[in-house]
Amino acid sequence: EINPSELTFMKELGCGQFGVVRLGKWRDQQRVAIKSIREGAMYEEDFVEEAKVMLCHPKLVQLYGVCLKHRPLLIVAEFMDNGCLLNYLRQKGGALKEAWLMSMCQDVCEGMEYLEAHSFIHRDLAARNCLVNKNNVVKVSDFGMTYVLDNQYTSSSGAKFPVKWSPPEVLHYSKYSSKSDVWSFVVMWEIFSEGRTPFESRSNLEVVNDITRGMRLYRPHRASQPLYAIMYRCW
Ligand code: ADP
Repeated sequence: EINPSELTFMKELGCGQFGVVRLGKWRDQQRVAIKSIREGAMYEEDFVEEAKVMLCHPKLVQLYGVCLKHRPLLIVAEFMDNGCLLNYLRQKGGALKEAWLMSMCQDVCEGMEYLEAHSFIHRDLAARNCLVNKNNVVKVSDFGMTYVLDNQYTSSSGAKFPVKWSPPEVLHYSKYSSKSDVWSFVVMWEIFSEGRTPFESRSNLEVVNDITRGMRLYRPHRASQPLYAIMYRCW
């Protein structure tokens, strides 16, 4: 539990599923990201239970604490200077050497390996849910889909459901596992395509049909054949 009087709010960083995210300071020194949770956007009790576990790993965006006594609920987390991985790839993609693209994939793998080792299923791994710090280290974030209260997001036929990152068993039977997280390593495809959208010109419904029939993403332009073989194995 963090005392909100110890937080100072600075500029707005972005806006997500749950509400606004701002840069702030904790006790006047530590820079932090503060997420305000919109009323009714989250299963709060479940979130608080889960937050007690406090997953901690250098490749996961660290949760520092929560402010529970007032509304909106605040989540205080590690501040990541370079923002979300997807925008980072779109802005810097061409300037990133292959070795860097590889090391970003490795970062995501290490974070995800830790989640699996602790029996935690992410359910929404995607470049938009990874963040990049000032040393260009990529960390996995937003392990929060479990607590979302928006049907458009949680139902596989909903408009916000991450269809293009989901395996057939999730699309058809909502069967989540660490293996479905492995499928979402579509992130590797996003990294090697410099932030393209997977199945760009296809609708969600078309993608469900394509994936079910065994169709897969093409080799992104920055990936060599052996690298493509790795992402392909994840699908
Ligand atoms: P939600 O999970 O509610 O959809 P996000 O976590 O994606 O929201 O946050 C929205 C935006 O806020 C991100 O795209 C990113 O630009 C910014 N942001 C979120 N968390 C951080 C953080 N820890 N450090 C820096 N920027 C962040």
